[in-house]
Amino acid sequence: MRRRKISNAIIVINAGSSSIKFSLFADETRQLELFLKGQIEGLRTDNAHFIARHPAGDVVGERHWTGPEAGAFDHDAATRFLMAFINTHLEGHVVEAVGHRIVHGGGDFTAPAALNAAALDRLATLVPLAPLHQAHNLAPARSILATTPGLFQVGCFDTAFHATQPPLAQAFALPAEITDRGVRRYGFHGLSYEYIASQLPTLGLGDAKVIVAHLGNGASLCAMDHGRSMASTMGFTAVEGLPMGTRSGTLDPGVLLYLMDEMHMGPRDLEKLLYQRSGLLGVSGISSDMRTLETSGEPRARLAVDLFTYRIGREIGSLAAAMGGLDALVFTAGIGENSAGVRAAVCGHAAWLGLEMDDGANAHPQPGAHRLSTPSSRVSAWIVPTDEELMIARHTRRLLTGATP
Ligand code: ADP
Repeated sequence: MRRRKISNAIIVINAGSSSIKFSLFADETRQLELFLKGQIEGLRTDNAHFIARHPAGDVVGERHWTGPEAGAFDHDAATRFLMAFINTHLEGHVVEAVGHRIVHGGGDFTAPAALNAAALDRLATLVPLAPLHQAHNLAPARSILATTPGLFQVGCFDTAFHATQPPLAQAFALPAEITDRGVRRYGFHGLSYEYIASQLPTLGLGDAKVIVAHLGNGASLCAMDHGRSMASTMGFTAVEGLPMGTRSGTLDPGVLLYLMDEMHMGPRDLEKLLYQRSGLLGVSGISSDMRTLETSGEPRARLAVDLFTYRIGREIGSLAAAMGGLDALVFTAGIGENSAGVRAAVCGHAAWLGLEMDDGANAHPQPGAHRLSTPSSRVSAWIVPTDEELMIARHTRRLLTGATP
């Protein structure tokens, strides 16, 4: 029997191109406690699916849509459905605010911000900087503004954590007339990195030089000194840096000129190639999913995984140089938290820095934050599970407290 006292709740929304995820946090006196989470997947396809669960895993609601009914289900319709569902499953809580994950804050939004119509319009001007994410991130906030204008909404930006990077780490070697338009390196996955930074002091790494490897479908590395971002592998867009599930990562820019000249590819063809047809999927020709590749006997699957870990190894060297040293390497997100094989290969590439992995700890990690390196290892290695939703809820509560006397 669940017994809950009445308290306020914060909704966190993370909208992607074809899905919207939500989490509901009870805003208790001392902490934020997750009590419901769910998602709608398959927006604007012929097969949309909604599911919501309690943190223990029991299903609270589920629904399927097929055919034209599913095809008509866009971000606005999905947000309206989710808000209606949430309002009938509040378990006595009162919704006080909604926090949104927004990929790009540009040069103006370097901290979480209240979202009103003017802020949403300014953020919409950044759509060309994150063509596959930004418009979808903003859609639920617009929908809620239209249906529930009095509800406090907050935008939390994946770029904001990197605003502390030194100017050299943010610069491209391009003429001023281009860089003055905001063409510079921003960095992404900032909410994940900020959450990890908040955990580093509990591991004795609050003052350390740390590289965090956020390895999920999107993948990047961040160099942190004293918990502040100093450099990252992603730059102007979320396609730079490491090879990812379907994104190429860094390419010689000359490749793009070649593709335009010799293969007559236009901007949209290049966008599709770089964001959706490359990375683990492109190299393997099999899948973007690390689990599938790790269990495949195909040589091209092996090549994709090897290229992924090799590039991570090279970028670790680059980021260690940017900080002038390295004390610890932290793995997080779907691949970082779950793939012992990827972690072992990456730590092998970092052995020259003085990283010595404890194979037993890597093969059998404990729940929560966990050390993976031997006691004598000069550079320590860790798994720290990330929690971007909690980070968004924390920011939303902080702005809410500041915004309401
Ligand atoms: P997103 O960037 O979409 O949030 P996730 O952080 O959930 O992605 O990471 C998804 C990736 O994690 C996929 O490549 C998936 O194969 C990988 N992954 C999840 N569980 C495991 C596992 N047990 N072993 C290897 N890879 C895993």
